[in-house]
Amino acid sequence: MLPIERQRQIVAWLEEEETLSISEISRRLNVSEMTVYRDIKPLLEDKKITKTSRGVSLATIGHIPSNSCTYCLKELNNRHPVQIITNDQKVEQLCCPHCGLLRYRDIEKNVSQIICRDFLQNTTISGKLAYFLMDADFHLNCCQPQVLTFDSLKYAEQFQKGFGGVIFQFEQAIEEIVKRMNGNRSCECHQLGGSYVDK
Ligand SMILES: [Zn+2]
Ligand SMILES: [Zn+2]
Repeated sequence: MLPIERQRQIVAWLEEEETLSISEISRRLNVSEMTVYRDIKPLLEDKKITKTSRGVSLATIGHIPSNSCTYCLKELNNRHPVQIITNDQKVEQLCCPHCGLLRYRDIEKNVSQIICRDFLQNTTISGKLAYFLMDADFHLNCCQPQVLTFDSLKYAEQFQKGFGGVIFQFEQAIEEIVKRMNGNRSCECHQLGGSYVDK
């Protein structure tokens, strides 16, 4: 095995197992610990992995903890979340429909399902059949521009009567949010580094 192949293998193991000791890596690769140290040196320098008390693990920079939004990396508050199930059955958690729509657009071909929640009843609905309300005068304190989802036009309109806003269907909602983000990948909450501010 070439050093680069061993490095890839080490990273692959760490993605699954989080932490590995040097002796365990040496045993698995059937090379000396000296060789393991040489192999991981560039990974440490590139900050791909870090040393821990029990060995090495993936660096937290660029690594997404499982309780964060896949898109904006903000901690999930679970008030109005969205899930995306990919074709290989991975479940991605998104903090709100704003990130759900943008993430969907990024990985569209690999999406098997996008699951939203009706804002009033909290029932789950397929994102593609949902109604999306933007510009409502109601603040989730999540990503801007804010999007709320409803399972029927009736509920969306009821909410709209009280709080205003514009209703879109799935494809239109994606178009609209992309237009408003204007090519800017990061929503406001991202720039605040995870702790968003109540307005
Ligand atoms: Zn998000
Ligand atoms: Zn959000």
